[in-house]
Amino acid sequence: MIAAMTNAERPAPEHDPTNEMDAWRHTGRQAVDWIADYLEGIEARRVQSDRSPGEVRAMLPNFAPETPDSIESVWRDMDEIIVPGLMNWQSPTFFGYFPANNSPPSILGEFLSAGLGVQGMLWSTSPACTELESLVLDWLVELMGLPATFRTDQVGGGVIQDSASSATLCAMIAARDRASQGQARTEGTRQPLVVYASSDAHSSVDKAAMICGIGSQNVRHMAVNSLRQMDLSVLQSQLESDLAAGRIPTMVVATIGTTATGAIDDVRAIADLCQQHDIWLHVDAAMMGAAAICPEFRWVHEGVDRCDSYCFNPHKWLLVNFDCDCFYVRDRKWLTRSLSINPEYLRNEATDSGQVIDYRDWQIPLGRRFRALKLWFVLRLYGAKHLREMVTDHCAMAEQLAEWIRCNPSLVLDGRQLNLLTFRHVDGDDASAALLQRMNDAGRVFLTHAKVADRFILRACVGQRTTSGRHLETLRSELQSAIESAG
Ligand code: PLP
Repeated sequence: MIAAMTNAERPAPEHDPTNEMDAWRHTGRQAVDWIADYLEGIEARRVQSDRSPGEVRAMLPNFAPETPDSIESVWRDMDEIIVPGLMNWQSPTFFGYFPANNSPPSILGEFLSAGLGVQGMLWSTSPACTELESLVLDWLVELMGLPATFRTDQVGGGVIQDSASSATLCAMIAARDRASQGQARTEGTRQPLVVYASSDAHSSVDKAAMICGIGSQNVRHMAVNSLRQMDLSVLQSQLESDLAAGRIPTMVVATIGTTATGAIDDVRAIADLCQQHDIWLHVDAAMMGAAAICPEFRWVHEGVDRCDSYCFNPHKWLLVNFDCDCFYVRDRKWLTRSLSINPEYLRNEATDSGQVIDYRDWQIPLGRRFRALKLWFVLRLYGAKHLREMVTDHCAMAEQLAEWIRCNPSLVLDGRQLNLLTFRHVDGDDASAALLQRMNDAGRVFLTHAKVADRFILRACVGQRTTSGRHLETLRSELQSAIESAG
């Protein structure tokens, strides 16, 4: 259902047009209505935009206006130009990539964060920004059964990063400096440092190595076993051969929920090897870490108590809008030794006292937004029970879909891990690719693909805030008609 009245048509209440805040009270309320209408009506829209390259830009002027445009004309452009040019990521029939689910409480938190406009780089630049962030990250340690050493009142601690990619980069910088005893930090990476991850690990591992000077050639992608977990015997022999060649094994990145299939590495066994060779172990649990909020899925974190750093994204599967990655370290000194820098203009008494956290020392940029607000709003206004129920429901829906695929003679189910399932057409890669294209072009649902063992597979990830049985039914019928229309 699309809204009956657009913002451009809503009459403005009486206000003093010369008072900016007075005028903004009206447009601010309009914005809330606009977002609510968009989210309520999203099901009636195509999931994937059908705009061609350059089409959106061609509808907009080439130069910025010299004098103010009216808000009515902005709303009109939002409705007529911007929204049709979007992938509607919040659609209940979006089953692609991974969810990026948001929610009304999270949007409120984001809105207030923009309104407050604070920079939380130092404790002293907004004590509440730092202390709320530490608090909600400690709440999550408890809610998700993470190791107590990750608590900010212990030697470790948590910080909100913009993304899992940034978390991996920060962890790799700390690992680099620990392995090189600080030399890489001051002199650059002259030593042959090596990073290990499975062949299915996220590309952000390679990117981090490119950025931090280790180099993508020094990332070893380990073969995977039949469960698509990092093969430990391959890891062991690769470590031995690198050591024998005088290289320095620096970091292993284990994945809890690989992007393609949701495979979960054997973190405990990897931790044994890391401990034996004094290697930093980082765990990337971008989407599937969120499952640990349910006690029945807490097994996903098996072995995480042995890692040096860990991250997961509430901005994927915990109703917090992008960006919000929770990054934890077992011992914060490695992170802060690598990332702190203290120019005179930022010096202050609280920092000098050593009693406060300055989160600029836990991340790449200096400035930082008040991201904790949206996480806090979600946790307070939904409560943990609601989040658990959502995760359980998504996994149950994924299983229903898996069962339907198992029974469909045209499809082969490759597997299901929690909320993610992978499948293909019985007739092979071309048929699978054509099936995906037909469904996505029709616009009623959206799925993505991956290449696994050189085979083209489809992925369906169930994780939207509003997805229900009805939307699963839409997916089933779209799949069936795409199969039938191929003849
Ligand atoms: N790690 C894994 C396993 C992922 O699936 C993804 C996203 O797909 C990422 C990392 C990157 O996440 P972000 O966008 O937060 O950097």
